[in-house]
Amino acid sequence: MEIKKLTQEEVNGTLWRACDTFRGKIDSAIYKDYVLVMLFIKWLNPHKTGKSRCFKEVQPECLIEKVYLSGETFKYLGNQYRLKVIEIGNGIKNEFEIEDENEVGECVKYFRGYIYLYVKDRNNYKRKQKLIHDWYRGKAHQKFWESLERVYPYVERYGVGKPDIQIRTMKARWGSCLLNDKSILLNSELIKAPKLCIDYVVLHELIHFKHENHDSNFYDFMTSLMPDWKQRKEILDEEVVREL
Ligand SMILES: [Zn+2]
Repeated sequence: MEIKKLTQEEVNGTLWRACDTFRGKIDSAIYKDYVLVMLFIKWLNPHKTGKSRCFKEVQPECLIEKVYLSGETFKYLGNQYRLKVIEIGNGIKNEFEIEDENEVGECVKYFRGYIYLYVKDRNNYKRKQKLIHDWYRGKAHQKFWESLERVYPYVERYGVGKPDIQIRTMKARWGSCLLNDKSILLNSELIKAPKLCIDYVVLHELIHFKHENHDSNFYDFMTSLMPDWKQRKEILDEEVVREL
C-alpha cells in the first residue's frame, strides 16, 4: 500500500496552520522556539531532497528532522507525546524501578502522556536517536502483532493462512504482501498512526492473499469486511501531513 505523496503547498500550509494553532495558547517563549523549529524544518526540506525550493513531492521521512530535546513531540498510535530528556548519573537516577542491576538505566518509557528518554549524555544525539528508534521498533512489533490478532479472524474463514509479520522502514509504502514468504511487510512508521489505521493496512495486505491485484474483487471484499475502510484510509493519508 502506497503512502500518499505530499506537495510543497501542503507542507507549507500545515506548518502555518500548526503555528496558528499555538499562537496565544502557549507561553510566548515556547511559541517562538516552536516557530523557529518549524521554519528550520521548512528550510531544510528542499536541501535534503537535493532539489530546488520548488520541489514537487516529499516523503514523510524527509519532513521528520528530530533533534531529541525536551518539549519536542513524538507520535505514537495517533497521538502526540512530549519528550522529556533526563540525564542520568551524578546522583540522578531513572525514576522507574529497574530490577536488573546490570541495566545502566538508559531507556525510553511512555508514561502519562509523556515519553521519557533517560540517557547518560543528553548531548549524544546518536545515542538518543538509537534509544527512540529501538523503542518505536519494540512497540511496532508488539502493536502490529496485536493488530494481526484483531484482524486475522476476518479472513481466516476464507482460507487465508496466518502470515508472519516483517517490519521495515520504507519511504513510499505503508505495507506490502509477500505472497511467497507468507508474510506481510509493514512500515515501522505505521506505529505513529492510530490503531484503526494499522488494522486497515493489515487487512489490506491480508486480502492480497485472496486477491493479488487492486481490482473490483479486491475492493468489494475489503468493503464487505471493513465497511469504513475509506475513512480509515483518509485518516492515514492525513497522518502523513500531520507528521509535521
Ligand atoms: Zn495493495
